This record gives sequence, structure tokens and C-alpha cells, in this order.
Amino acid sequence: MIHAHEPFAVTNIGELVTNDPTFGDGLLGVLSNAAVIIDHGLITWVGSSSDVDRTIPRVDMQGRAMLPGFVDSHAHLVFAGDRAGEFAARMQGQPYTAGGIASTVEATRAATTDHLRMNLARRMQEMRACGVTTVETKSGYGLTIADEVRLLELSGEVSQETTFLGAHVVPAGITVDDYVEQVCGPMLAACAPLARWIDVFCETGAFDVDQSAQVLQAGAEAGLGLRVHANQLRHGPGVQLAVSMGAASADHCTHLDDRDIQALAASSTVATLLPAAEFSTRSAYPDARRLWQAGATVALATDCNPGTSFTTSMPLVIALAVREMHFTVEQAVWSATAGGAAALRRTDVGRVTPGARADLISLNAPSYQHLAYRPGVPLIDQVFIAGVA
Ligand SMILES: [Zn+2]
Repeated sequence: MIHAHEPFAVTNIGELVTNDPTFGDGLLGVLSNAAVIIDHGLITWVGSSSDVDRTIPRVDMQGRAMLPGFVDSHAHLVFAGDRAGEFAARMQGQPYTAGGIASTVEATRAATTDHLRMNLARRMQEMRACGVTTVETKSGYGLTIADEVRLLELSGEVSQETTFLGAHVVPAGITVDDYVEQVCGPMLAACAPLARWIDVFCETGAFDVDQSAQVLQAGAEAGLGLRVHANQLRHGPGVQLAVSMGAASADHCTHLDDRDIQALAASSTVATLLPAAEFSTRSAYPDARRLWQAGATVALATDCNPGTSFTTSMPLVIALAVREMHFTVEQAVWSATAGGAAALRRTDVGRVTPGARADLISLNAPSYQHLAYRPGVPLIDQVFIAGVA
């Protein structure tokens, strides 16, 4: 019997992804026949399974692969309603526009807080079952002060990575200028204490580059870190804006030119790719090889949301990234763990090294490669968050 308050060892790990090349082979720092010692929710030791003291309590992995829990750095988990009909119509040829968000806003505003909390709990359960141990989640389906506050309060119940996305779309009945003023003024004042980040949908049909800059500037002045929905539907100024303002992450990056790639590579802004969004909107995928070759830091995330990517599966995201975006399997696994941590500017997650939080997942497979090799198969075995399975 393992007690979380006593040190214990996870042993006989066939293949361990550490994300630290000083520990093992390649980008992922892979160790074979490995073990990890966990104490008070932290990893305190990583090494060979045969070196573990016989007296320490142990969990035997029987040769399974283990890796850091997935860090999903882009999700929209608090909402009501679904848009299955819109998805079906899109598959019949109707194009995606930013306007579909309005229907989720309507359903979310009308929902009780208990109903929203139940929906959120269900999605968090799905996330965990898919191996996600850290998830960022955004507001953005309220778009009034009271509703945005409500969504952020709920988000804060399940994650410390909460993002104020008042600038998701302009709600009905208000001009864009008036709405931006509200987002940057009283809405931000009410939401900033509940959020770590601010985000803006910089896109035709949502917010232009000047409005987006205004929102990000106000957020930075309120002490929030910056994230940008950038270059999703067409090429635009979002990536350059994210880099120039020192955002932690430019997300989507579906349409990138060489200048965008150079700017990302020369900055600390992570390029977060969301292949399940391209999948669910039947859009062309960006080619990640350009980003990797240039030296940009790349993350992968679900973009879980009811309109354009209603999945909580990071393994699906990894499989799509490899098959459709030309990631190597190593790069995709790194981006879904260490890359996500970089996009959230976290150093305590996304790696299996002494001092990191003991967020680990085991696979019903001998190698991390199976995450891409066996698409759609539920391979996640055990999930440890801060050492608790
Ligand atoms: Zn999004």
C-alpha cells in the first residue's frame, strides 16, 4: 500500500521520457529500465530501476512506458450547449466563421452555475483520463462583467492556469470600440484578480491588431501574462503582435510566413499548434518542420472548445501533429509536455527530473511512440498528479 505522504518508488519503467537530455537519449532524455522516487508530491530521484533501495515502497510498472503528464496550454472548458449541428453542417461544406461563438455565449449565459460546474467537472475528468495533468482554461463565453467573472471563478476551482478572454468576439448589441473599452476597463478590473493570463482573438471578424494590442497592453498593466489567438483563419498580424508584446504564446499559427517564423524563433514566444482545430474545421495544417528548423519553441494543445475542436485528447493531438504537421514522434511528445509547460512559463511541470512536481502518466504500451502509432486507442494507464494516482 502506497501512502502519498511517504516516499515511494515507481519502478520497472520500460521507457521513461524525462525531457532532460542530460538524463537519457535524445530530445526526450529517454531512460530504459528506469525508476522514479516521489516524496511529498515531488520527484526526488530518477535513475535505473536496479538502483532503488529494496526497503522503499514501490509501484511496479511491469515494463510500461512513462512520461510527464500532458500540459494542455490552450483550452476553453467552461461553457454550456454544444454545436454538433454546426460541425455536421461544416462537414457538408459550410465554412467556419468566428460568429459561431455567439451561440455558445447565449447557452452559457443562460446556464446555472451548477450546470456549468458539472460540465467543467466532466471535461476535467476526460482530460485526466487522456493523461492531462495541467490544463489552461479560458473565459470568453460570458462577455459581460458578471458572466466573465463567473467563468473565471469556476476555472479557478480546477486550475491555476486561468485566462481572461473577454476579447473573444464582440457580443451583440455593442460596437467594437465600446466593447474594447469595457474589456480594458471595468471587465478587466473585475477579472484580473481571478486570472493569470489575458488572451485576445486577433482575427478578421473578431479584433483587429490595434484593438488586440490595446487589450493586451491593458492586461499587462493589470499584471497578467499575455497569450494571443493568432493567424488561425488567414495570414494576419497576430503572431507579430504576440512576439512584439512579449506574449508567452501565439496560438494556432495556422498561416505563417517566413517573417513570422523568424520572429517566433528569435523570441521567447512559444508557437502553440492546435491540430485538432484544423481537423475539426477541415482546414489545411501548418507544416511544423519550418518552426522546428528555425529553432522556435513549439507546443501542442487541444484547443478544447464546443465550436472548432471538441476534444480533450492530447494523444489524438499528438497523432495528428505527427501525421499531418510533420512532427517527429519525439517532437510531438515534447511539445505536448515540455512545450506546453514553456507556453505557460512553468518549470515545475512537463519534465521528470528531481524537483519537478510528480505529474506522470504510464501507458499500456512499451514506448511513447505508441501515442502516434496507435491513434484513437486509449493507451493511458495510470495518471499521477503531484504523486497521487
Ligand atoms: Zn482557442
